[in-house]
Amino acid sequence: MKITDVIAHHLTYKAKHPYANSFMYNRSRSATVIEVRTDNGLVGWGEGSGAPDQGALETHAIGKSPFDYEVIYDGLAQGGRNARAACGVEIALWDLMGKALDKPVYELLGGARRNEVTAYASGLFKLEGEDHAKSLYDEASRYRDQGFLAVKMKIGFGREVDEEIVASVRKAIGPDIALAVDANCRYDVATAIDVGRRIDAYDLLWYEEPIAPQDVDGYCEIKQALPMRLAGAESLQGLRAYRELVQRRALHLIQPDISIAGGFTEGRRIWSLATAHHVRTVPHMWGGIVRLAATLHWQATLPDDPVALNPFPCYLEYDMTENGIRTDLSPTTFLLEDGMVKIPDAPGLGVEVDPEKLAKYAR
Ligand SMILES: [Mg+2]
Repeated sequence: MKITDVIAHHLTYKAKHPYANSFMYNRSRSATVIEVRTDNGLVGWGEGSGAPDQGALETHAIGKSPFDYEVIYDGLAQGGRNARAACGVEIALWDLMGKALDKPVYELLGGARRNEVTAYASGLFKLEGEDHAKSLYDEASRYRDQGFLAVKMKIGFGREVDEEIVASVRKAIGPDIALAVDANCRYDVATAIDVGRRIDAYDLLWYEEPIAPQDVDGYCEIKQALPMRLAGAESLQGLRAYRELVQRRALHLIQPDISIAGGFTEGRRIWSLATAHHVRTVPHMWGGIVRLAATLHWQATLPDDPVALNPFPCYLEYDMTENGIRTDLSPTTFLLEDGMVKIPDAPGLGVEVDPEKLAKYAR
């Protein structure tokens, strides 16, 4: 089996109801879905951040076997210029290997340690034109009614607003549903600590990205000052970008994204680095259906650490925002059942892409 073509489908979905985190309104969502074709007719799907240029693909991918995935990824990612774009190709190679061997990707990765993961509803943004605390109360109440065991909300809107909206969401979900907060790097250290102290009373699962991931000293200061878990680093690419954060244990848990950090290949290297330093890996997932499928396979394989009768769940970020690239691109769905999402067990990633929908969302 040899790779003959790598096709990048640049997709955009326009939001009907814009929603904001701490720094911008999302008015559209985009993704690059990668299609890798082979000389035996098999097609693999991946999702990355942009596409490698044709020259890099000719040099490192075309004519090679998908089973050379690590050589291909390292070739495409070298120098960093194509690194994010290489993720989509790398994920598609795993889809192809699984299809060629008639096995789900998790089996190729060493086997599943679980057949379902605890999902957290990732939403609770600021909705344009609506009362912030009231709309979050209503949205969080829906997640409670849908059976979620955990939710994540956006903060970073200022000390008083954050305190008000965290209280509103906690009131809606009650005491038993886990609550994480995400400030999307919009605070300085002093504000991050102040906000953390104000919202600590609401029993937080973790406090995500109060400051930029490059400010390792800042994270160490915040970690000293606050009692709750700190999470972050969803936007970093490559093993070395995580090195100092992990070595200095600046975060309790890192959140590499399979479509940004470097596919399964680099993602597993990052997990190894983190686990050697007793730092937990809880992947980030905010994107389309192919990224969701890949994330599920990766999370199936991540060991509990420590192994326990009641381990810290390997939480899946279950994106609840409006995005047709996740909800409409494929006939495949990964539905919530009793707060859990099942790991797909069809060959490859277990997700098919509808060519008509690819055309519908092409930009
Ligand atoms: Mg985040």
